[in-house]
Amino acid sequence: DIAAPVAVAIDGADLPPGAGLPRASGLPDDLFQHDGQITKAPVRAITLSALGPRPAELLWDIGAGSGSVSVEWCLAGGRAVCLEARADRAATITANADRFGVAHRMDLRHGAALPMLGGLPPPDAVFVGGGGDAALYDALWAVLPPGTRIVANGVTLEAEARLADLHARHGGTLLRIDLAEAGTLGRFRDWQAARPVVQWRGIR
Ligand code: SAH
Repeated sequence: DIAAPVAVAIDGADLPPGAGLPRASGLPDDLFQHDGQITKAPVRAITLSALGPRPAELLWDIGAGSGSVSVEWCLAGGRAVCLEARADRAATITANADRFGVAHRMDLRHGAALPMLGGLPPPDAVFVGGGGDAALYDALWAVLPPGTRIVANGVTLEAEARLADLHARHGGTLLRIDLAEAGTLGRFRDWQAARPVVQWRGIR
């Protein structure tokens, strides 16, 4: 039941062994409401590690999708502004924020990200999960305080080219995440490759 709240174990909570929510990032995808457009758990864990949340820090989650990255950022003690162009996904973000008990930490803005950037409070970190075209990165460079951490994930060749260019110009780390999971091939098992995700992390 997707509407059921997830039990969140706070320090010393009186829960049976194995109950409650794990404290590490990369929670199972099926804990979130989503339509398939979600950063999958292993890549989400790497992404949160790259974003490096500290308590009370602010994240901009650009192209927030299901809001899964923001939810995990907020579970680590931060606050997030979620920018999402699609109305159905904006509703999903609200549902996930409620479900994980972090709605008071998440500020959802429905619409195209670019025109909203100038009116947002300055972040400590930015995640670009969608909408990362050249104009968006130019706008980010104009508005972000120096020192802001930036993490961007891409799956298309066009996104990869943009991230390679950011890496060439601004340094940081360019990582290709190639994962495969065991599946079945007739009576046997095989490796089923996931679409590679290219991740750039850098500092404004
Ligand atoms: N990290 C998300 C998945 C992101 S999918 C998760 O874990 O759920 C990329 C999202 O970016 C999509 O929901 C898409 O609607 C949104 N998007 C694409 N271009 C955008 C833009 N210009 N402004 C805001 N959102 C955008």
